[in-house]
This record gives sequence, C-alpha cells and structure tokens, in this order.
Amino acid sequence: MTVKLLYFILSFSLLISSSGLQADDGTDAMAKILPARLASHVKFLADDLLEGRGTATRGYDLAALYVMTEFQQLGLKPAGKNGTFYQPIPFRKATTIRENCSFILIDKEGEHPLEYGKDYVMAADYSRPQTSASAEVVFAGFGVTAPELKYDDYAGLDVKGEIVALLSNAPASFPVSARAHYNSALQKEKNAVAHGAIGIVTLRTADDEKRGPWDRVIRQNKLSGFHWKDPSGQPNNFFPQIQITASLNKDGSTKLFAGSKSTFDEVSQQAKDNKLHGFPLGFRASLKKESKLEEAESPNVIAVLEGSDPALKNEYIVYSAHLDHLGISDPVNGDPINNGAYDNATGVSSILEIARAYTECAKRPRRSILFIALTGEEKGLQGSDYFANYPTVPQKSIVADINVDMFMMIFPVADVVIMGAEHSSIGPIAEEAARTNGLKVSPDPTPEEVRFVRSDQYSFIKKGVPSIAMTAGQQSTDPSVNGAEAIKQWLRTIYHSPQDDINQHFDWETGVKAIRASFLTGYRIANADQRPTWNPGDFFGKEFGNK
Ligand SMILES: [Zn+2]
Repeated sequence: MTVKLLYFILSFSLLISSSGLQADDGTDAMAKILPARLASHVKFLADDLLEGRGTATRGYDLAALYVMTEFQQLGLKPAGKNGTFYQPIPFRKATTIRENCSFILIDKEGEHPLEYGKDYVMAADYSRPQTSASAEVVFAGFGVTAPELKYDDYAGLDVKGEIVALLSNAPASFPVSARAHYNSALQKEKNAVAHGAIGIVTLRTADDEKRGPWDRVIRQNKLSGFHWKDPSGQPNNFFPQIQITASLNKDGSTKLFAGSKSTFDEVSQQAKDNKLHGFPLGFRASLKKESKLEEAESPNVIAVLEGSDPALKNEYIVYSAHLDHLGISDPVNGDPINNGAYDNATGVSSILEIARAYTECAKRPRRSILFIALTGEEKGLQGSDYFANYPTVPQKSIVADINVDMFMMIFPVADVVIMGAEHSSIGPIAEEAARTNGLKVSPDPTPEEVRFVRSDQYSFIKKGVPSIAMTAGQQSTDPSVNGAEAIKQWLRTIYHSPQDDINQHFDWETGVKAIRASFLTGYRIANADQRPTWNPGDFFGKEFGNK
C-alpha cells in the first residue's frame, strides 16, 4: 500500500466518521434554533390580542390555533384525539361568589367576623353551589404525615369533624424532594380528609407574603378555577368531605391565634426551627361559601414526529409547555391583560423551535417525539394531569418528559438549574447538554419555592415518568447585574401580573442556549439504547416509579 493510498483511505474514513458523527449527534440541527425565531413566536403569543390566553377563552383558542398551524407547517403528525391535533378537555369551571361568603370566629365573648379580601379568600367549590362548616379550629402544623421520615403533624390531635389550620409549605428539615412532594395542596387535602377534617384554612406567614404579595392572591382568587372532569362528569381531585377551603393572610392568621397559647409569630418561628406542635386554637369557626358552577372545554395541542427505529418508535419522549396563562384580571397600573410573555409564551415558543430542529435533523431520532402545548396549568396543572391520566399514546410508552416553563432571561444567564436532574438517568445527559451549550449547572438556589412540583413535569412524575425542566439559574455573565436580586425582584413584582408582557428585557441569546440544551437532551434520550431510569432509591422513583 502506498503512502498516498493510505492517506486517501485514512482521510476518507475520517470524512465518513466525522460526517457520521454530525448526522448522529444532533448538534447541526440544534444550531438551527435561532434567537429571532424564538422572539417572533413570543411576540405573537404574548400579544394583547390574545387577551392573556386564559383557559377556555377565545384568546387561548387563538393561541392553540397558532401552535397547531405551526406543527402542521413543520410536517408533524396530529397526536390528539380522533386524528386531530387537539385533545379537548371537559372542565368544571367554578367561581367564588365573594359577597356571599363569610368567616366568623366564635369564642365565649361572641362572634368576630373576618373580612373577605382583607383577611381571607376562599377557593370555589367544584360541585356544590353552597357549602358551610361550623366546627373547632385545630392548628395542625404543615398538615404533613410522612411515615418514612417519622414525621406527623397530626400526631396526638383529634381533627375528626373539625377545621384544620395549616401553614403553607412543608418542613425545611425534609430532603428537597420530599419537601416538594408534601408541600402540594393536593397531598395536604388528601391527608386532611384521611384524618376526618371538614375544612382547611391555609395560613400565610410573613415569609409567604414576602414571596407572593396578598394583592396578587386576591387578583387570582377573582378568576375562575377549573378542574377536569372524568368520563362520568365528576371533577377530578374533588373531596366532598371538605366543605370549605380558605386562605388567611398574615393579619387574618394572627387573629385566628389571638385566643391560643402561642401567637402566630411564635408558631411561624417554631416552623423555621422545626419545633412545631399542633393544638386547638380556642375558636369555633362558622364558614359559608357560595360558588358559581359552569361547564367548559379547552384543548391540549399535541403533535408527533415518528421515530426511525422500527421498534423504538413505539416509545415517546415528551416535550411539554403550558400555553395558557391567567387571562384578564383586575387591572394593575391600568392594564388588565396578563400576557404571560415569560409565563409561558417563552416555553411554548421553545418547544416550537425544538420541534423545528427535530424536523431538520439529518436522520430522524430512533424514538418518537411528542410535542404538547398544555392548557390549564395556571389552574393547577390541569392539562398535563388530564394528559397523564388519558394519554393519547400508551402510558407505558412515554419514557421521559422535558418541560419548559418560564425560562427567565431578564439578564444574560450564565447557569441553569435542571429541575429533576438528581432523580433519574436524564440528569447527567441534561447536564452535559447544558455544558455543551456553554451553560454552567447549578443546584436549586431556592428549594423553598418547591418549583419541581409546581409545573407540568410533576403530572408526568406522578405517573412514574422520569422528567426534567431546564430553568434559568441566578448567575449573570454581566457583572453589573445581581442575578439573584433581579429574579427575586421579578418574582415579587412582575410574576403573575399584567406586566409580564413583551415590553420587558429578553436576552434571546441565553434563551436559545437553554432551548438547544433541552433539544439535545431529548435527542440523546431518543437515540439511546435504553430508556431513562429512576436513580436507585430515589424518592419519586419509589413513590411513583411502578405506576
Ligand atoms: Zn404561571
């Protein structure tokens, strides 16, 4: 063999292997995700014309139509109901009639009425126009029972037929996952029902009020709630045992503790010190509520890119992002439209661009990819929960969910926090994908926000599907920006307000890096020999893994 020939063969094989690498590793397609395209989707979805994309509104339907036509244009196949892109969801819609609600504390001195809006709000009932409860109020800590952690807020308390008063959140002493899980309102309601309670009053501490101002709570309480209905027409996660659910702000909570052995401030401090003990509060409460009940419908929008492997194409990687936002509310600074530009026009725009990148891959991935724009997230993860319970592909064939909710790019971001990375084999893949795109990977800087259970990935987790969400970290590449402070400020003032609109700063370049990382994560899972697995002994894997 001549040197020339050897050189020829070597360079030829190098050429083949390098082009083979390009075709297989997804980086070419990934590079086609561009800032200007991302920006244009967000610009449309966050426009005032869409009126904040409230669940079951015309604005949402217009947004859904936009997503569907984008999917069509990309050549994706419908994966909703009956060969369409839509999965219509039947909802019970419920609205609290504030003026017909009352919350009266009763002790031996007489009646002490609380004021709606000033002290408390009530969540609407999903099945009954009128409900009431009159009983003792018992403080039951966080309302958490976690036998595996040898923790029980109800220990030694008899709350049968009584109203329980619960702090929000879960013990800070818990591992992050367990804390997130036990913090969920559904988990607390189930536990209250299991202990025989007939009413739940949530208490907001000074810390809660710092994180989420009370006027935001009032604004959202005026909006209608939605629960999806099962085929028999029953709203899901509805517990008829619970007559009333109310939320007291710090002033209201302080009044509730006025006749008891500890003040509300003392109890709030005990919660921080992990020294909580429940006790009867020395008041009876008489609660009344009126709710307006209606029927409604709103769709998830679902498309599929079929995998290239004859066997593995029957497994699916899901990309999800919620398309709904809060719609129209009481005005803030004269503006009533909650555009939800960050929350979550950015997420839906991300999965549209990710979908486009997949259609531009040299070779389709081995597994199939499902893209879902979800409804009802702001109403308590309704769209994703419905999909998880009534999936349009076989439930066991869903191998992973990659959710995109509100990637913050109010400054050039240096790092990402990958929610869920520590739970499954997706973690290392996602971390590498982030680093490939020049993003550092940081641990969750605010575990007390329990963000992992607060977006749609949790609906998949609960069905045993390993899931992640790539979210922005707090480090800025611009040294003049204090990222942690900027995000804290944003969450306090802009989050869930009409000011989350297109007139904010968006560092699209950073956004694109994170979207590329989400693309690459899914691409690698889709081409791997094995589907993702829960890490051995993982909390969520143990809790839900075999469902
Ligand atoms: Zn939101």
